[in-house]
Amino acid sequence: MFPRKQDFEVVVKDEVVGLGVISRRAFAKGELVAALSGEIIHDLRQHSLQIEPDVHLYDVYFSGYFLHSCSPNVELDMKNLLVYAVRDIQPDDYLFMDYAQTEDILFKQFPCSCGSENCRGWITGRKEQVAGGASGLMEDIHKEEIHG
Ligand SMILES: [Zn+2]
Repeated sequence: MFPRKQDFEVVVKDEVVGLGVISRRAFAKGELVAALSGEIIHDLRQHSLQIEPDVHLYDVYFSGYFLHSCSPNVELDMKNLLVYAVRDIQPDDYLFMDYAQTEDILFKQFPCSCGSENCRGWITGRKEQVAGGASGLMEDIHKEEIHG
């Protein structure tokens, strides 16, 4: 149930979005893709996924690198830490989730270029507004991350 090396691979998609997770096998819509694991943390990090407010899963081997799409092909069940296919997935497809499905607040809001018909254009967490003057704040958070 946990992701196996032969089924998934973390690769550099491009310089804009960075790393993504490719599925090496097909999954049918509705099928269980994998169980999640990782470190449970209480702060928001770049590759963390929210389990509940102030509780996040930090996994830099698999789920932390799911890419965002406004028309995702996977959905995360953060109560049971499971990933399901919400569309058919073909071998060598990237796994795409909708970050607003799990995150109240994003580590960093960003412009989306997923190209789907219902693309929201600018991606935020489900409980936050579009940040106007937040870039300075985000820089401070980033500095703290680096310098501990
Ligand atoms: Zn989009």
